[in-house]
Amino acid sequence: MSTLEIKDLKVQVKTEDGPKEILKGVTLTIKDGETHAIMGPNGSGKSTLAYSIAGHPRYEVTGGTVTLDGEDVLEMSVDERARAGLFLAMQYPVEVPGVSVANFLRTAKTAIDGEAPKLRTWVKDVNGVMERMNLDASFSQRSVNEGFSGGEKKRHEIAQLDLLDPKVAILDETDSGLDIDALKVVSEGVNRFREREGKGVLLITHYTRILRYIKPDYVHVFVDGQVADEGGPELADELEANGYEKYLGTKV
Ligand code: ADP
Ligand code: MG
Ligand code: MG
Repeated sequence: MSTLEIKDLKVQVKTEDGPKEILKGVTLTIKDGETHAIMGPNGSGKSTLAYSIAGHPRYEVTGGTVTLDGEDVLEMSVDERARAGLFLAMQYPVEVPGVSVANFLRTAKTAIDGEAPKLRTWVKDVNGVMERMNLDASFSQRSVNEGFSGGEKKRHEIAQLDLLDPKVAILDETDSGLDIDALKVVSEGVNRFREREGKGVLLITHYTRILRYIKPDYVHVFVDGQVADEGGPELADELEANGYEKYLGTKV
């Protein structure tokens, strides 16, 4: 059982000109077994929502609550959030020069589980994941995200998702910059995760394309830091046909 509950979340970002309000009261509940898609135009605050849940220091929560199985997420450090079962695949994954993918994955797994994974099964698990994500065996020895292609970055994020096995995965534009083959590999990775017992997914995307491969249970339209509309998967089809125009300029 796992439920991520976001209630009336208000967030401001620290900018050079002072704080700027981005999230204006977001309410959203993700139960285990559910996949929610958040769709919205650029600049609507989708990444801000993802970063706020993950605990990025630049985003200041000014109101509302976030709980995971009743535990106050906003009181937790970034590490505690990860240990509690939250995972964020970032829109722009950061480079970690000098740290190999193999070391990074093992360190992250150890931190999250509180003990080092058993070496034999771990190596097997990593190799299996790399193979499924269509990443070369030598990939593990490269520095994290350094010189990775867009597709490699996203496939590496999903490899992390597979190995770290969180309760709730927040995937921020995991589809952006992918060609059709990489999109399929990434989508299959997400779908394998969804098939596991008790997992929730928050899939953030600008385009409807990925939703042909990952069928959401619910779709939320995000405009100007708020949920402007909600529905089932059919809402994504409507957005594909008509875009976001009908929501823009409407004050909600
Ligand atoms: P989306 O992911 O939907 O494209 P973002 O959450 O990235 O939207 O951005 C929402 C708004 O907040 C934009 O106007 C953006 O310029 C602003 N914003 C987000 N992060 C920062 C930041 N670190 N510094 C300044 N402005 C930011
Ligand atoms: Mg954007
Ligand atoms: Mg974004």
